[in-house]
Amino acid sequence: MPVSPVNWSATRGNERTIDQAPVIVGGGVAGLLTALHLAPMPVVVVVKAPLQTEASSAWAQGGVAAAVGPDDDPALHLADTLLAGDGLCDEAVARRITAAGPAAIETLLRFGVRFDRDTAGALRLGLEAAHSRRRIVHATGDGTGREIMRGLVAAVRETPSITVLEGFEVRRLLVSDGAVSGVLAVSAAEPVLLPTSRVVLATGGVGGLFLHTTNPRGSFGQGLALAARAGAALVDMEFVQFHPTALDVGGHPLTLVSEAVRGEGATLIDETGARVMDGMPGGDLAPRDVVARAVWRRLGEGHLVFLDAREALGSSFAQRFPVIAAACEAAGIDPATQPIPVRPAAHYHMGGVAVDAQGRSTLPGLWACGEVAGTGLHGANRLASNSLLEAGVCAKFVAESVAAAPRGRDRALTPPAMPEAADPEAIRPILSRAAGVLRDHDGLAACIGTLLPLAASSDPALVALLIAVAALQRQESRGGHFRSDFPAPVDALRRRESFTLETALSAARAVADR
Ligand SMILES: Cc1cc2nc3c(=O)[nH]c(=O)nc-3n(C[C@H](O)[C@H](O)[C@H](O)COP(=O)(O)OP(=O)(O)OC[C@H]3O[C@@H](n4cnc5c(N)ncnc54)[C@H](O)[C@@H]3O)c2cc1C
Repeated sequence: MPVSPVNWSATRGNERTIDQAPVIVGGGVAGLLTALHLAPMPVVVVVKAPLQTEASSAWAQGGVAAAVGPDDDPALHLADTLLAGDGLCDEAVARRITAAGPAAIETLLRFGVRFDRDTAGALRLGLEAAHSRRRIVHATGDGTGREIMRGLVAAVRETPSITVLEGFEVRRLLVSDGAVSGVLAVSAAEPVLLPTSRVVLATGGVGGLFLHTTNPRGSFGQGLALAARAGAALVDMEFVQFHPTALDVGGHPLTLVSEAVRGEGATLIDETGARVMDGMPGGDLAPRDVVARAVWRRLGEGHLVFLDAREALGSSFAQRFPVIAAACEAAGIDPATQPIPVRPAAHYHMGGVAVDAQGRSTLPGLWACGEVAGTGLHGANRLASNSLLEAGVCAKFVAESVAAAPRGRDRALTPPAMPEAADPEAIRPILSRAAGVLRDHDGLAACIGTLLPLAASSDPALVALLIAVAALQRQESRGGHFRSDFPAPVDALRRRESFTLETALSAARAVADR
């Protein structure tokens, strides 16, 4: 489709204010909070789906981790984060983000989010796996994300400096003289070109690239493709967290069955009633990646796997976990009397656009925030509920940095041809087979050979290729990345790896040519 530059702001009668305003791509917690922190500076939020839909933020169940309890301290939160990250966290970044957690909770409260409180009015704090203290701030039981998004969307709608373009998908970033100069987007009705020298990517995760995921369908790493094609570096791309218990009743995506259900005593069994985690350190509450591999292997042996909450929760299940109970009911399962069928599913991407402490990428004029950003907080494995924390805290850092950056000069932009709409469907089986819970050289090399010819014209193929290249290059197992052919961590490889599109493609060509 040929694209002509459309000065969409002219149609709003607000041309001077909006033209060259910072553009935020994505309307989850990261995008909306960045926009709110930038107020009263005029900003444009471009989001491909209506707000509150197609964003992981709205689906978050557990809550936000922050050291706000009387027995807690950011130093303890930092220690838990570093342990979960399996040697790859950026300690300075993790220290800064965990220290800013309590203030981020205050900010969310100020924007109207209503967290659960006890009868004395104090925040109720949940406990999740690998946290040494109760520090999970939550809302409406397992409906935390929905409530946070309700509050933020209401605040955004009431903020006149924020213009939201809903139903516009960003397909390319424009780069002039080595810096961001615009955004090319398209809605059902029209293509638009937004001239700007300041773009914040807040496009979420990559789960939609896998056959089984807990992420919304639209989370297939578009922001990573935008950044890579524009020349920005990506980091930690191999690290995908697979959640061990997604509700296995078919369809795409799958409903998450929170770890908190095992926290309440539910156990993993197969169809014979045998315990899946029997004899393993930590049992049913072992780290997420350990449980995911055990479930994956049991499924691979031809068994079915279930989460059995009959004895631990019984008739109280629906009251404690209303969102999960409703999903089970829709599938004809009563968790009070029946075991829940589960399987591992791609849940969270630790990697992303390589950013510094202000969220700046290696490309001038491009920032990243939230799940699409590779800040270094998570290392090789994310500590539960640290992602909403990261989005909440980093939105402020990013906004401060964007506000301090100079407005770009006006220039004539030549829009590229509009890329085709991205469709990850054909990519899912290829990536899932090679870069799922268990990976090895042969599977990854074959995957790279298949994806390489597709990557030039398909963003999902490109992002899947970048994950596979990084997974092939890391010849060890660490955190969420497990290589059957290199099953142990290797001290000498304990460093974060980043690459640009150019270097990743030349590595992929070398593999394909072998
Ligand atoms: C089921 C589930 C439960 C979770 N539970 C928790 C939890 O309890 N605690 C926790 O800390 N984390 C949890 N997470 C992870 C957490 O929700 C996410 O990491 C976080 O919400 C990401 O926020 P975000 O703003 O970066 O991205 P998202 O909320 O995913 O938002 C991305 C936005 O970008 C838009 N977008 C994408 N591409 C484009 C494009 N090309 N053009 C325009 N718009 C685009 C999308 O439409 C969307 O609005 C959970 C995730 C899932 C899936």
